[in-house]
Amino acid sequence: MALRNIRIYGDEILKKKCRPVQMMTPRTKLLIRDMLDTMYDANGVGLAAPQVGILKRIVVIDVSEAEDDSGSEGAAENTAENMDTAANADKKESGAPANQGGPYVLINPEILETAGEQTGQEGCLSLPGQAGNVTRPEYVKVKALDENMNEIIVEGRGLLARAICHECDHLEGIMYVEKVEGDLFDVTDEAEEE
Ligand code: ZN
Repeated sequence: MALRNIRIYGDEILKKKCRPVQMMTPRTKLLIRDMLDTMYDANGVGLAAPQVGILKRIVVIDVSEAEDDSGSEGAAENTAENMDTAANADKKESGAPANQGGPYVLINPEILETAGEQTGQEGCLSLPGQAGNVTRPEYVKVKALDENMNEIIVEGRGLLARAICHECDHLEGIMYVEKVEGDLFDVTDEAEEE
């Protein structure tokens, strides 16, 4: 397992637009593996390549823990997921398939459709200890390549939809702080280390 250094808000690389991946190489495979390790190590639910200093259009997402452990639905104690995105509004979709949370590797992702709206807490591994309220679509359909460069379609609702939007924004050099409603707030308690 190899962890990469997570770039922190203020780092110029987080403002840059990423380049598409043209072909899979051993180096890119390793990057993806490291991104997953780094995301899990930081208790995140998503991570984009620029957050580890690589300007490629690659994101990894896994919201399965966050959704499985989210306790009773509609609970008031919404802890910002320490990563990219947070867990408000994740009422459980009782009809969702069990593996809906991930992990997902999305290369060159392209959002095809969105629907609805959700407003909730969001955090980012590049801005540890902080969160803010962001409105995102409730449903997102995204087209991407998987790590074998096969085309996949992923549909997400709730937290997964939020994570997809948050991570795709990173590929455009956009941080959620640009979309936050009201002020950022501290979530430095146990929300962070889980
Ligand atoms: Zn982020």
